[in-house]
Amino acid sequence: MRVGRRPAAQIRSGEHMAGRTVRREEDDLAQELEHALGSDEIRLEYQPVVRLGSGQVAGAEALVRWRHPRRGMLNPSDFLPVAKRSGILDRLGQMVLEQACRTAAGWPRPSSRTSYFVSVNFSVDQLEADSAVESIVAATSATGLAPEQLVLEVTSNVGPDGARVAQTVSALREAGIRVALDDFGSATSLRDLKQLGVDFVKLDREFVVDVDGPPADSAFALAVLRLAEARGAEAVAKGIESREQAWRLAELGCRYGQGFFFSKPLGATGIIAILRQGTLRG
Ligand code: C2E
Ligand code: MG
Repeated sequence: MRVGRRPAAQIRSGEHMAGRTVRREEDDLAQELEHALGSDEIRLEYQPVVRLGSGQVAGAEALVRWRHPRRGMLNPSDFLPVAKRSGILDRLGQMVLEQACRTAAGWPRPSSRTSYFVSVNFSVDQLEADSAVESIVAATSATGLAPEQLVLEVTSNVGPDGARVAQTVSALREAGIRVALDDFGSATSLRDLKQLGVDFVKLDREFVVDVDGPPADSAFALAVLRLAEARGAEAVAKGIESREQAWRLAELGCRYGQGFFFSKPLGATGIIAILRQGTLRG
């Protein structure tokens, strides 16, 4: 309220200074992140993805973390925007990809089924790079991971001109790598699903929250599941937090799920214990 009585010029200069401070903090963080690349400050956690019908673990999603020396453990939303603005998202992404492939290449094999997959989040910017297909395929061959074990999760909207991304996605799939459309349900992702051939559609948590509620609420989840099916993709529900949600999603025909009900994201050692066990019933 006191701000309202300050002269306009003073307010503007205050805002200017606040803006400069934020920018300086971002520059510092970007510089620190650049130093952290290649160090063990950047690490991955893995959240198991489960077959909803049986509770069998199918694979895990790699989620990046930054153990900052002063600020503690940072989540992607704390530093990915800075990485993007400062032009280091590509390097960070490549590092995450290689680390995830190397780790998953050493995972135990399930006894009678196909190997566990590891899914890695990729922004559309990363997929638009000229060398995207080459460097992704190289990451699998360099680490000894079978291409079929890698799932790339495309995390943001492809936009109206998706032809280039569609080409990249199709080249990756030809190389045996599978692709998931993440955050499905946002306004433009319908267009993305139309433009891209994908193996998985990830149902956003927003639609999972009330999937066990009245039909008017669960209708959205049902519509996405039917759409995925019609496009020949398997559905993966994210953010499952209760038995009721897991049960209802399975009943609606959703093949896979992940969320705190089954397991939080785990460190490299924790995930191996789950993979050895092979099933998770929440
Ligand atoms: P996402 O791909 O949707 O990943 C799932 C997020 O939901 C993760 O947050 C996970 O910790 C959280 N989560 C999992 N289960 C539950 C649940 O039951 N309830 C709730 N409330 N949350 C749950 P996180 O790790 O903070 O990641 C946020 C986003 O950052 C990811 O969303 C993904 O889009 C992005 N991201 C993570 N790692 C990378 C990366 O290496 N590269 C890129 N480009 N993006 C990444
Ligand atoms: Mg994801």
